[in-house]
Amino acid sequence: MTAWDIAVVGGGPAGTATAIGALRADPSLKVAILERADFPRAKSCGDGIAPQVVDLLTEAGVTGIVDDWTPVPRLRLTRGSLVVDGEMQRPTWVVPRTVFDHRLVTAAQKAGAVLVRHRVRSLSGTTLDETHSAQVIVGADGPHSVVRRSLGLRQGPMAVAIRGYAPTPADRRGRLAIVFGDGGWPVAVTIGNDVSSRDIEGANPLYIPQAKIFAGACALGPVIRPAWEVDATALEIRLRIERDGAAVVDESVSTGSIARPLTDLVDYLFRAENFPDGAWLSTGTGIVPPDEFTLRVGDRVTIEVQDVGSLSNPVMSGRDAWDFLEAR
Ligand SMILES: Cc1cc2nc3c(=O)[nH]c(=O)nc-3n(C[C@H](O)[C@H](O)[C@H](O)COP(=O)(O)OP(=O)(O)OC[C@H]3O[C@@H](n4cnc5c(N)ncnc54)[C@H](O)[C@@H]3O)c2cc1C
Repeated sequence: MTAWDIAVVGGGPAGTATAIGALRADPSLKVAILERADFPRAKSCGDGIAPQVVDLLTEAGVTGIVDDWTPVPRLRLTRGSLVVDGEMQRPTWVVPRTVFDHRLVTAAQKAGAVLVRHRVRSLSGTTLDETHSAQVIVGADGPHSVVRRSLGLRQGPMAVAIRGYAPTPADRRGRLAIVFGDGGWPVAVTIGNDVSSRDIEGANPLYIPQAKIFAGACALGPVIRPAWEVDATALEIRLRIERDGAAVVDESVSTGSIARPLTDLVDYLFRAENFPDGAWLSTGTGIVPPDEFTLRVGDRVTIEVQDVGSLSNPVMSGRDAWDFLEAR
Protein backbone atom coordinates (compact mmCIF):
# COMPACT_ATOMS: atom_id res chain seq x y z
CA MET A 1 0.00 0.00 0.00
CA THR A 2 1.43 3.39 -0.99
CA ALA A 3 0.58 6.26 1.37
CA TRP A 4 0.08 9.80 0.08
CA ASP A 5 -0.87 13.08 1.65
CA ILE A 6 -3.22 13.76 -1.26
CA ALA A 7 -4.39 11.28 -3.87
CA VAL A 8 -6.14 12.87 -6.83
CA VAL A 9 -8.19 10.49 -8.95
CA GLY A 10 -8.14 11.72 -12.56
CA GLY A 11 -5.48 13.65 -14.43
CA GLY A 12 -7.78 16.03 -16.38
CA PRO A 13 -7.75 19.80 -15.81
CA ALA A 14 -9.56 19.50 -12.45
CA GLY A 15 -7.17 16.88 -11.08
CA THR A 16 -3.95 18.43 -12.31
CA ALA A 17 -4.99 21.94 -11.21
CA THR A 18 -5.80 20.57 -7.74
CA ALA A 19 -2.40 18.88 -7.52
CA ILE A 20 -0.61 22.01 -8.73
CA GLY A 21 -2.53 24.22 -6.27
CA ALA A 22 -1.82 21.91 -3.33
CA LEU A 23 1.88 21.73 -4.11
CA ARG A 24 2.09 25.49 -4.53
CA ALA A 25 0.59 25.87 -1.05
CA ASP A 26 2.95 23.27 0.43
CA PRO A 27 5.71 21.84 -1.81
CA SER A 28 6.55 19.19 0.79
CA LEU A 29 3.22 17.36 0.27
CA LYS A 30 3.27 13.87 -1.23
CA VAL A 31 0.72 14.22 -4.01
CA ALA A 32 -0.30 11.45 -6.42
CA ILE A 33 -2.42 11.75 -9.54
CA LEU A 34 -3.99 8.36 -10.22
CA GLU A 35 -4.95 8.29 -13.89
CA ARG A 36 -6.30 5.39 -15.92
CA ALA A 37 -5.14 6.68 -19.33
CA ASP A 38 -1.74 7.08 -20.89
CA PHE A 39 -0.95 10.69 -21.73
CA PRO A 40 -1.29 12.33 -24.17
CA ARG A 41 -4.93 11.25 -24.24
CA ALA A 42 -7.97 12.66 -26.05
CA LYS A 43 -11.10 13.97 -24.36
CA SER A 44 -14.43 14.90 -26.00
CA CYS A 45 -14.44 18.66 -25.76
CA GLY A 46 -14.84 21.80 -27.83
CA ASP A 47 -11.24 22.57 -26.83
CA GLY A 48 -12.02 26.22 -26.04
CA ILE A 49 -9.75 27.72 -23.40
CA ALA A 50 -11.20 30.86 -21.83
CA PRO A 51 -8.79 33.65 -20.80
CA GLN A 52 -9.85 33.15 -17.17
CA VAL A 53 -8.34 29.65 -17.35
CA VAL A 54 -5.03 31.16 -18.34
CA ASP A 55 -5.35 33.70 -15.46
CA LEU A 56 -5.95 30.91 -12.93
CA LEU A 57 -3.07 28.85 -14.23
CA THR A 58 -0.78 31.87 -14.07
CA GLU A 59 -1.84 32.38 -10.44
CA ALA A 60 -0.91 28.76 -9.80
CA GLY A 61 2.51 29.35 -11.37
CA VAL A 62 1.82 27.65 -14.72
CA THR A 63 2.71 30.03 -17.54
CA GLY A 64 3.10 29.87 -21.32
CA ILE A 65 0.80 26.88 -21.69
CA VAL A 66 -1.08 28.24 -24.74
CA ASP A 67 1.51 30.75 -25.99
CA ASP A 68 2.32 28.80 -29.14
CA TRP A 69 -1.38 28.55 -30.15
CA THR A 70 -3.20 31.22 -32.18
CA PRO A 71 -5.36 33.43 -29.94
CA VAL A 72 -8.95 33.84 -31.14
CA PRO A 73 -10.04 37.46 -30.73
CA ARG A 74 -13.27 37.38 -32.78
CA LEU A 75 -16.51 35.47 -32.38
CA ARG A 76 -19.20 35.03 -35.02
CA LEU A 77 -22.50 33.34 -34.21
CA THR A 78 -24.84 32.56 -37.06
CA ARG A 79 -28.32 31.13 -37.27
CA GLY A 80 -29.98 31.45 -40.67
CA SER A 81 -29.85 35.14 -41.54
CA LEU A 82 -29.15 36.18 -37.93
CA VAL A 83 -25.50 37.04 -37.35
CA VAL A 84 -23.64 38.34 -34.31
CA ASP A 85 -20.03 39.13 -35.11
CA GLY A 86 -17.54 41.06 -33.01
CA GLU A 87 -14.32 41.35 -31.08
CA MET A 88 -14.40 39.58 -27.75
CA GLN A 89 -13.35 41.48 -24.64
CA ARG A 90 -10.36 39.18 -24.36
CA PRO A 91 -9.07 36.56 -26.76
CA THR A 92 -9.65 32.87 -26.14
CA TRP A 93 -7.78 29.82 -27.43
CA VAL A 94 -8.74 26.55 -29.03
CA VAL A 95 -6.23 23.89 -28.05
CA PRO A 96 -6.89 20.17 -28.50
CA ARG A 97 -7.19 18.47 -25.14
CA THR A 98 -4.59 15.93 -26.25
CA VAL A 99 -2.15 18.84 -26.10
CA PHE A 100 -3.60 20.97 -23.30
CA ASP A 101 -4.17 18.19 -20.76
CA HIS A 102 -0.76 16.68 -21.46
CA ARG A 103 0.86 20.04 -20.76
CA LEU A 104 -1.10 20.37 -17.51
CA VAL A 105 -0.05 16.91 -16.37
CA THR A 106 3.56 17.73 -17.19
CA ALA A 107 3.25 20.99 -15.22
CA ALA A 108 1.85 19.04 -12.25
CA GLN A 109 4.75 16.59 -12.43
CA LYS A 110 7.21 19.49 -12.58
CA ALA A 111 5.55 20.91 -9.47
CA GLY A 112 6.26 17.60 -7.70
CA ALA A 113 3.13 15.48 -8.26
CA VAL A 114 3.61 11.80 -9.04
CA LEU A 115 1.58 10.54 -12.00
CA VAL A 116 0.52 6.95 -11.37
CA ARG A 117 -1.05 4.97 -14.19
CA HIS A 118 -3.91 3.32 -12.32
CA ARG A 119 -7.62 2.86 -12.90
CA VAL A 120 -9.35 3.38 -9.58
CA ARG A 121 -12.17 0.90 -9.04
CA SER A 122 -13.19 1.40 -5.44
CA LEU A 123 -12.91 3.75 -2.52
CA SER A 124 -13.18 2.66 1.08
CA GLY A 125 -12.55 5.26 3.76
CA THR A 126 -9.15 6.69 2.92
CA THR A 127 -8.07 3.73 0.80
CA LEU A 128 -8.29 3.32 -2.95
CA ASP A 129 -8.38 -0.25 -4.30
CA GLU A 130 -6.41 -1.42 -1.25
CA THR A 131 -3.26 -0.21 -3.04
CA HIS A 132 -3.18 3.53 -2.29
CA SER A 133 -4.15 5.43 0.84
CA ALA A 134 -4.21 9.18 1.42
CA GLN A 135 -5.17 11.71 4.07
CA VAL A 136 -7.16 13.54 1.41
CA ILE A 137 -8.71 11.92 -1.66
CA VAL A 138 -9.90 14.15 -4.49
CA GLY A 139 -12.40 12.84 -7.01
CA ALA A 140 -11.58 14.48 -10.36
CA ASP A 141 -12.41 11.47 -12.47
CA GLY A 142 -14.87 13.06 -14.83
CA PRO A 143 -18.54 12.44 -15.58
CA HIS A 144 -18.58 8.73 -14.64
CA SER A 145 -16.70 9.33 -11.41
CA VAL A 146 -15.98 6.18 -9.41
CA VAL A 147 -15.27 8.36 -6.38
CA ARG A 148 -18.68 10.01 -6.56
CA ARG A 149 -20.38 6.64 -6.99
CA SER A 150 -18.48 5.16 -4.04
CA LEU A 151 -19.73 8.04 -1.89
CA GLY A 152 -23.30 7.23 -2.89
CA LEU A 153 -23.73 10.52 -4.73
CA ARG A 154 -26.04 10.68 -7.71
CA GLN A 155 -24.84 11.14 -11.23
CA GLY A 156 -26.02 14.33 -12.91
CA PRO A 157 -27.93 14.41 -16.20
CA MET A 158 -26.05 12.90 -19.12
CA ALA A 159 -26.05 13.90 -22.77
CA VAL A 160 -24.57 12.52 -25.93
CA ALA A 161 -21.99 14.74 -27.60
CA ILE A 162 -20.23 14.26 -30.89
CA ARG A 163 -17.05 16.11 -31.63
CA GLY A 164 -15.19 16.28 -34.91
CA TYR A 165 -12.24 18.25 -36.24
CA ALA A 166 -12.26 20.18 -39.50
CA PRO A 167 -9.37 22.09 -41.07
CA THR A 168 -9.51 25.85 -40.52
CA PRO A 169 -9.50 27.76 -43.83
CA ALA A 170 -6.88 30.51 -43.92
CA ASP A 171 -9.51 33.30 -43.82
CA ARG A 172 -11.04 31.85 -40.63
CA ARG A 173 -7.82 31.70 -38.68
CA GLY A 174 -8.12 33.56 -35.43
CA ARG A 175 -11.92 33.58 -35.54
CA LEU A 176 -14.33 31.31 -33.81
CA ALA A 177 -17.39 30.73 -35.96
CA ILE A 178 -20.35 28.92 -34.45
CA VAL A 179 -23.16 28.18 -36.85
CA PHE A 180 -26.43 27.11 -35.26
CA GLY A 181 -28.13 25.08 -37.93
CA ASP A 182 -31.82 24.48 -38.16
CA GLY A 183 -30.82 20.87 -38.44
CA GLY A 184 -31.66 18.56 -41.23
CA TRP A 185 -28.40 16.75 -41.84
CA PRO A 186 -27.56 13.41 -40.30
CA VAL A 187 -24.68 13.36 -37.83
CA ALA A 188 -24.92 9.88 -36.39
CA VAL A 189 -26.42 6.44 -36.81
CA THR A 190 -27.66 4.29 -33.95
CA ILE A 191 -30.03 1.42 -33.24
CA GLY A 192 -33.56 1.92 -31.98
CA ASN A 193 -36.17 -0.42 -30.58
CA ASP A 194 -39.54 1.27 -30.54
CA VAL A 195 -42.26 -0.95 -29.15
CA SER A 196 -45.65 -0.89 -30.80
CA SER A 197 -49.00 -2.16 -29.58
CA ARG A 198 -50.41 -3.61 -32.74
CA ASP A 199 -53.90 -3.83 -31.22
CA ILE A 200 -53.99 -0.07 -30.79
CA GLU A 201 -52.18 0.59 -34.05
CA GLY A 202 -54.48 -1.76 -35.96
CA ALA A 203 -57.65 -0.16 -34.61
CA ASN A 204 -57.03 3.03 -36.53
CA PRO A 205 -53.94 4.37 -38.37
CA LEU A 206 -54.40 7.64 -36.50
CA TYR A 207 -53.61 5.82 -33.25
CA ILE A 208 -50.00 5.12 -34.21
CA PRO A 209 -48.51 7.66 -31.77
CA GLN A 210 -50.52 6.20 -28.85
CA ALA A 211 -49.44 2.70 -29.89
CA LYS A 212 -45.80 3.58 -29.35
CA ILE A 213 -45.78 5.55 -26.11
CA PHE A 214 -44.85 3.26 -23.23
CA ALA A 215 -42.43 3.66 -20.37
CA GLY A 216 -39.23 1.92 -21.44
CA ALA A 217 -40.13 1.80 -25.12
CA CYS A 218 -37.89 3.24 -27.80
CA ALA A 219 -34.51 2.20 -26.43
CA LEU A 220 -31.68 3.80 -28.41
CA GLY A 221 -28.02 2.92 -28.63
CA PRO A 222 -25.89 1.63 -27.02
CA VAL A 223 -23.54 2.66 -29.84
CA ILE A 224 -23.55 5.67 -32.10
CA ARG A 225 -21.44 5.85 -35.24
CA PRO A 226 -20.75 9.16 -36.95
CA ALA A 227 -22.89 9.28 -40.10
CA TRP A 228 -19.87 9.83 -42.32
CA GLU A 229 -18.33 6.55 -41.19
CA VAL A 230 -21.20 4.28 -42.29
CA ASP A 231 -23.17 3.92 -45.49
CA ALA A 232 -26.65 3.99 -43.95
CA THR A 233 -28.26 3.16 -47.31
CA ALA A 234 -26.98 -0.43 -47.33
CA LEU A 235 -26.88 -1.85 -43.82
CA GLU A 236 -28.21 -5.21 -42.78
CA ILE A 237 -30.64 -5.06 -39.84
CA ARG A 238 -31.26 -8.31 -37.97
CA LEU A 239 -34.08 -8.72 -35.45
CA ARG A 240 -33.99 -11.65 -33.05
CA ILE A 241 -36.57 -12.35 -30.36
CA GLU A 242 -35.65 -15.07 -27.90
CA ARG A 243 -38.15 -16.88 -25.72
CA ASP A 244 -37.23 -19.62 -23.25
CA GLY A 245 -33.77 -19.88 -24.81
CA ALA A 246 -34.95 -20.29 -28.43
CA ALA A 247 -35.38 -17.74 -31.23
CA VAL A 248 -39.05 -17.19 -32.04
CA VAL A 249 -38.26 -14.46 -34.57
CA ASP A 250 -34.96 -14.22 -36.45
CA GLU A 251 -35.10 -12.14 -39.60
CA SER A 252 -32.92 -9.75 -41.54
CA VAL A 253 -33.55 -6.90 -43.92
CA SER A 254 -31.38 -4.27 -45.60
CA THR A 255 -31.84 -0.53 -45.25
CA GLY A 256 -31.45 -0.62 -49.04
CA SER A 257 -35.06 -1.80 -49.23
CA ILE A 258 -36.45 1.36 -47.59
CA ALA A 259 -38.65 2.82 -50.34
CA ARG A 260 -37.71 6.47 -49.91
CA PRO A 261 -34.17 7.87 -49.89
CA LEU A 262 -33.06 8.57 -46.31
CA THR A 263 -32.40 12.17 -47.29
CA ASP A 264 -36.10 12.55 -48.15
CA LEU A 265 -37.11 11.23 -44.72
CA VAL A 266 -34.80 13.72 -43.01
CA ASP A 267 -36.03 16.51 -45.24
CA TYR A 268 -39.70 15.80 -44.43
CA LEU A 269 -39.03 15.52 -40.70
CA PHE A 270 -37.60 19.01 -40.62
CA ARG A 271 -40.25 20.54 -42.87
CA ALA A 272 -42.91 20.36 -40.18
CA GLU A 273 -41.02 20.79 -36.92
CA ASN A 274 -38.08 22.53 -35.33
CA PHE A 275 -35.65 20.37 -33.40
CA PRO A 276 -33.26 22.84 -31.78
CA ASP A 277 -31.53 20.03 -29.87
CA GLY A 278 -31.60 17.59 -32.78
CA ALA A 279 -33.70 14.49 -33.26
CA TRP A 280 -33.35 10.76 -33.87
CA LEU A 281 -35.19 9.69 -36.98
CA SER A 282 -36.49 6.14 -36.74
CA THR A 283 -36.54 4.54 -40.19
CA GLY A 284 -38.45 1.37 -39.34
CA THR A 285 -37.12 -2.15 -39.85
CA GLY A 286 -39.20 -3.73 -42.55
CA ILE A 287 -39.43 -6.85 -40.39
CA VAL A 288 -43.01 -7.58 -39.37
CA PRO A 289 -43.72 -10.72 -37.33
CA PRO A 290 -47.07 -12.43 -38.08
CA ASP A 291 -50.26 -10.85 -36.71
CA GLU A 292 -50.74 -13.45 -33.98
CA PHE A 293 -47.26 -12.77 -32.57
CA THR A 294 -47.04 -10.78 -29.39
CA LEU A 295 -44.18 -10.09 -26.99
CA ARG A 296 -44.20 -11.74 -23.57
CA VAL A 297 -42.55 -10.81 -20.32
CA GLY A 298 -39.14 -12.54 -20.23
CA ASP A 299 -38.57 -12.31 -24.00
CA ARG A 300 -35.36 -10.66 -25.15
CA VAL A 301 -35.35 -8.49 -28.27
CA THR A 302 -31.99 -8.03 -29.98
CA ILE A 303 -31.46 -5.77 -32.95
CA GLU A 304 -28.13 -5.89 -34.75
CA VAL A 305 -27.25 -3.28 -37.31
CA GLN A 306 -24.27 -4.06 -39.51
CA ASP A 307 -21.27 -1.78 -38.86
CA VAL A 308 -23.10 -0.13 -35.94
CA GLY A 309 -23.64 -2.71 -33.19
CA SER A 310 -26.26 -4.54 -31.23
CA LEU A 311 -29.09 -3.38 -28.96
CA SER A 312 -30.60 -5.97 -26.66
CA ASN A 313 -33.59 -5.38 -24.36
CA PRO A 314 -35.56 -7.64 -22.03
CA VAL A 315 -39.35 -7.41 -22.12
CA MET A 316 -40.72 -6.35 -18.74
CA SER A 317 -44.02 -5.03 -17.54
CA GLY A 318 -45.45 -3.28 -14.52
CA ARG A 319 -44.21 -0.45 -12.38
CA ASP A 320 -41.64 -2.56 -10.51
CA ALA A 321 -39.63 -2.81 -13.71
CA TRP A 322 -38.77 0.87 -13.12
CA ASP A 323 -37.22 0.46 -9.68
CA PHE A 324 -33.75 0.71 -11.17
CA LEU A 325 -34.47 4.28 -12.26
CA GLU A 326 -35.44 5.35 -8.76
CA ALA A 327 -32.24 3.79 -7.41
CA ARG A 328 -30.14 6.09 -9.61
C1 LIG B 1 -18.75 17.98 -26.13
C2 LIG B 1 -18.10 18.80 -25.05
C3 LIG B 1 -17.57 20.04 -25.37
C4 LIG B 1 -16.94 20.80 -24.38
N1 LIG B 1 -16.37 21.98 -24.74
C5 LIG B 1 -15.68 22.68 -23.85
C6 LIG B 1 -14.95 23.86 -24.23
O1 LIG B 1 -14.92 24.24 -25.39
N2 LIG B 1 -14.28 24.53 -23.26
C7 LIG B 1 -14.28 24.12 -21.94
O2 LIG B 1 -13.65 24.79 -21.11
N3 LIG B 1 -14.94 23.01 -21.55
C8 LIG B 1 -15.62 22.28 -22.47
N4 LIG B 1 -16.25 21.12 -22.10
C9 LIG B 1 -16.21 20.72 -20.69
C10 LIG B 1 -14.84 20.12 -20.34
O3 LIG B 1 -14.51 19.10 -21.27
C11 LIG B 1 -14.91 19.53 -18.93
O4 LIG B 1 -15.46 20.49 -18.07
C12 LIG B 1 -13.56 19.18 -18.41
O5 LIG B 1 -12.92 18.19 -19.20
C13 LIG B 1 -13.70 18.64 -16.99
O6 LIG B 1 -12.38 18.35 -16.53
P1 LIG B 1 -12.16 17.25 -15.44
O7 LIG B 1 -10.71 17.24 -15.10
O8 LIG B 1 -13.17 17.43 -14.35
O9 LIG B 1 -12.57 15.85 -16.13
P2 LIG B 1 -11.95 15.12 -17.40
O10 LIG B 1 -11.34 16.07 -18.36
O11 LIG B 1 -13.06 14.23 -17.91
O12 LIG B 1 -10.81 14.22 -16.79
C14 LIG B 1 -11.10 13.12 -15.98
C15 LIG B 1 -9.89 12.22 -16.00
O13 LIG B 1 -10.12 11.17 -15.07
C16 LIG B 1 -9.65 9.96 -15.65
N5 LIG B 1 -10.42 8.89 -15.01
C17 LIG B 1 -11.74 8.63 -15.12
N6 LIG B 1 -12.09 7.58 -14.36
C18 LIG B 1 -10.95 7.18 -13.74
C19 LIG B 1 -10.67 6.14 -12.80
N7 LIG B 1 -11.62 5.33 -12.35
N8 LIG B 1 -9.40 6.00 -12.36
C20 LIG B 1 -8.42 6.83 -12.79
N9 LIG B 1 -8.64 7.83 -13.69
C21 LIG B 1 -9.88 8.01 -14.13
C22 LIG B 1 -9.94 10.11 -17.13
O14 LIG B 1 -9.11 9.25 -17.91
C23 LIG B 1 -9.61 11.58 -17.36
O15 LIG B 1 -8.26 11.77 -17.72
C24 LIG B 1 -16.87 20.32 -23.05
C25 LIG B 1 -17.38 19.07 -22.72
C26 LIG B 1 -17.99 18.31 -23.71
C27 LIG B 1 -18.52 16.95 -23.35
